[in-house]
Amino acid sequence: MVEIKEIAGGQESSVFSQMGQFDHEQVVFCHDHDTGLKAIIGIHNTVLGPALGGTRMWTYATEAEALRDVLRLSRGMTFKSAISGLNLGGGKAVIIGDSKKDKNEAMMRKFGRFVNNLNGKYITAEDMGMTTLDMGYIAMETKHVAGLPESQGGSGDPSPVTAYGTYMGMKASAKKAWGNDSLAGKKISVQGTGHVGGYLIDYLVKEGAQLFITDIDQDRLQRISSATGATVVGLDEIYDLDVDIYSPCAMGATINDNTLSRLKCQIIAGCANNQLQDENVHGPALVQKGMIYAPDFLINAGGIINVYSEVKKLNREWSMQQTEQIYNTTLNIFAKAEADGTHTQKAATELAQKRIDDMAKIKRTY
Ligand code: NAD
Repeated sequence: MVEIKEIAGGQESSVFSQMGQFDHEQVVFCHDHDTGLKAIIGIHNTVLGPALGGTRMWTYATEAEALRDVLRLSRGMTFKSAISGLNLGGGKAVIIGDSKKDKNEAMMRKFGRFVNNLNGKYITAEDMGMTTLDMGYIAMETKHVAGLPESQGGSGDPSPVTAYGTYMGMKASAKKAWGNDSLAGKKISVQGTGHVGGYLIDYLVKEGAQLFITDIDQDRLQRISSATGATVVGLDEIYDLDVDIYSPCAMGATINDNTLSRLKCQIIAGCANNQLQDENVHGPALVQKGMIYAPDFLINAGGIINVYSEVKKLNREWSMQQTEQIYNTTLNIFAKAEADGTHTQKAATELAQKRIDDMAKIKRTY
């Protein structure tokens, strides 16, 4: 009956067993022959509130790969919102296809109708492969869309808020490492100078940090370097630099077996999602190396905080205040990890899970 199968170690695993692995509540498969829409909506957990998370359009090689991605990403959203004190659950959607060739108004609106059928249990937003225009089409069919541009009544670009949270997490890490949170004179390498990286660099320059930056976009790199005096370094060279802080702000999995033997920094704090290639391996490895790791889903939560402000009709000032709390939460996580003898990513996940469990208990009575 169930078509999509994951082959793990030669063993087939059904959709239900994959959902069971991380306790997903609901997975919705959406298909429309006329528009060619093939989408999967993953709802991981709605104890705290509606599942919120973006829709990603990607050329997945197999349906199993798309399913795996939506399950992994929706679970991540649960913990990100929970640890940020938001009353949101975790969800995510993926559309299978080439975002440059396969998209059109009808497909986006059809997808919007599928989202609408969930009656607000899932709220969607923009993610990779989607544009403001696409979100506008989806919003024609459902009100359960967030993260829209200000011109469409939304909360606008979340990147400045994400950058502020990352900056707070970095300062808390400095406090832990050096006893005070000043970044003045610290050597900091920033990998990725895009939306978030760019705003983060502004904060770091203002504080007098000594910056080393890299990006595949050479034009942007040169522009930022001329404006800030940051030193441009090579894409791979960044892992060998003698710096105090490494800030991954581009792609995930940059903390892996290869880079761990090369990194010399004392702190890793950046906005990229899923920085640890394997958190069970590289989380403990960072502890062994005596490096301080600010959990990614905690310190990059400014974006979801900003989206939440839109859902709850709060303003940017509220988002910035709430995001500032990332400083204290990061310090709490460091203390918890030390007390529990574990790594910080695990401590953060456990703290998020505890909030979900506690809130589930209070909902037992009417
Ligand atoms: P972006 O696309 O604006 O910027 C990413 C930058 O990284 C680009 O300039 C790109 O050229 C560069 N890049 C890509 N591959 C690279 C490589 N191999 N080496 C060096 N640079 C490379 O994206 P963004 O919105 O700034 O997000 C950055 C990261 O933060 C992503 O992992 C994203 O998922 C995560 N994130 C972003 C937000 C947000 O509010 N935008 C929120 C949470 C997490």
